[in-house]
Amino acid sequence: MKQRKINKAIIGRRAKEYLESNRGLKGVLKLYRDVFSIQKKIGQKIPDQLPHLKGGEISFRIEEGRRLIEPDELEVNTAVLREMMKELGEVLKGEDSKPLEKLEDILADDEEVRRLTEAFLEERDGDDTHGMAESGIEPEILYMLMHIAIAPFFWKQASTLSKKADLGQVPQGTCPVCGELPIMGFLREEDGLRILECSLCGTRWGIPRMMCPFCRTTDQKKLSYIFAEGDQSRRAYLCEACKRYIKIRTGGGQGIEEMVLPLEDLATVHLDNAAAERGYERGCRTVFS
Ligand SMILES: [Zn+2]
Ligand SMILES: [Zn+2]
Repeated sequence: MKQRKINKAIIGRRAKEYLESNRGLKGVLKLYRDVFSIQKKIGQKIPDQLPHLKGGEISFRIEEGRRLIEPDELEVNTAVLREMMKELGEVLKGEDSKPLEKLEDILADDEEVRRLTEAFLEERDGDDTHGMAESGIEPEILYMLMHIAIAPFFWKQASTLSKKADLGQVPQGTCPVCGELPIMGFLREEDGLRILECSLCGTRWGIPRMMCPFCRTTDQKKLSYIFAEGDQSRRAYLCEACKRYIKIRTGGGQGIEEMVLPLEDLATVHLDNAAAERGYERGCRTVFS
């Protein structure tokens, strides 16, 4: 599986293209770029480490349907994480500092940062944020901050593992490396495979085209898609069986693998709205949620 390639230059270039076709994206594209550059900058301080799994163990876990990074297998350096949370917090505060005014107290308390890290890692499964309560910050906002602050630790650990794993056919709606939900996907035309990208560790994996990734139904009578008039290449695939949907970008030829899916996600909110109006729930995470 060819993994995503993103850096500041690629994101800057792509963001400019999205902005040219929709000026209304200005604020959110800037936010994404600011967040990414902090993740990259401070991410360089994450210490190198040897992979915690060897080749045989990697394929064994994939076959078993077990994630490659269990919650207790992610190495989080608290000092680096705290710096990441501080700078990302500043960016998020940009417009309204009130929701994050307690952040400083949290960051001054090593024990609390560790507790929140554990709560985040343990609770991603149930989408339950109760471990985030009692911190003085809205659990949803704190969860999002933890998500973008911990992501670079996952990027680093996932990138060595995904190279050694066979991720071409993993028919599931959660990331085979870290267990998180995807952000969205695209259609690889050469073999008709759908490629999903993890919203947390960024790993890409392939699932069959005619299958709902969330409930895994292949009943074609239950699967359909919608698109905006005049743009068939961007679709929301709806599943009648579980009432969830996933956005898939099609077309784009060879260059489609270069797509920056978080940007594509931000640029296709109209599809989210259209699917929600029809009563479908988003099966993926968004960039900022
Ligand atoms: Zn992942
Ligand atoms: Zn389904």
